[in-house]
Amino acid sequence: MDKLIQVGLTGGIASGKTTAAATLAALGAHVIDTDELARRALDPGEPAFEATVRVFGREILKADGAIDRERLGNIVFADSRQRQRLNDIVHPEVRAAWQGELIELKRAGWRGVVVVVIPLLYEVAVQDWFDAVIAVGCAETTQRRRLHERGLNEAQADARIRAQLPMPVKVERADFVAWNECSQAVLEQQMTRIWKRLESLAPAGGNISN
Ligand code: ATP
Repeated sequence: MDKLIQVGLTGGIASGKTTAAATLAALGAHVIDTDELARRALDPGEPAFEATVRVFGREILKADGAIDRERLGNIVFADSRQRQRLNDIVHPEVRAAWQGELIELKRAGWRGVVVVVIPLLYEVAVQDWFDAVIAVGCAETTQRRRLHERGLNEAQADARIRAQLPMPVKVERADFVAWNECSQAVLEQQMTRIWKRLESLAPAGGNISN
């Protein structure tokens, strides 16, 4: 591959984005996980941490001074205006970190596929930033089961699923789709097939989604 191409990887909550990205990383992609960047942005001492405590109050802090992410999650998923306030703080930090990583890769002469995992890719309308978009989808019942296994109750799962665009919309808009309803091995097979397409299309130049 003689150039750097940027691929967005999106999907619903608990649809398998992180698992799919791990397969692409094993195949040679450089993965930037914006969920991870968002988590780090809220670590104590970070500018977004300070701003979040200013906006939501010290009652979102645990005894050790870190943000209680479950408490903050329950606040923002219960009220879309509160969610917007948090997104307004965190999203610019995430974009700066992601763009910074990309600039570093380019400066180092990196060639190949950069996969950016971005759950709200269509919601924040950044699809045009990418050469191609992959959606990882699954049935809502599967999302609920996985969230339940993670310790979320029905209301918490519901609020998180409703806060995103419906899965069929993401699947319809994406250039590539992996449907994650079987084993992880089947997801790996689908990601490997998509990887081969990315590899074969990348050297041709231009926007591979055209
Ligand atoms: P989030 O939206 O919370 O970041 P995600 O889309 O990144 O989630 P993963 O973390 O990859 O999703 O997967 C959610 C959970 O489901 C994980 O515990 C993962 O191990 C499990 N999982 C993913 N795919 C499968 C599969 N095909 N079979 C069984 N378990 C799976």
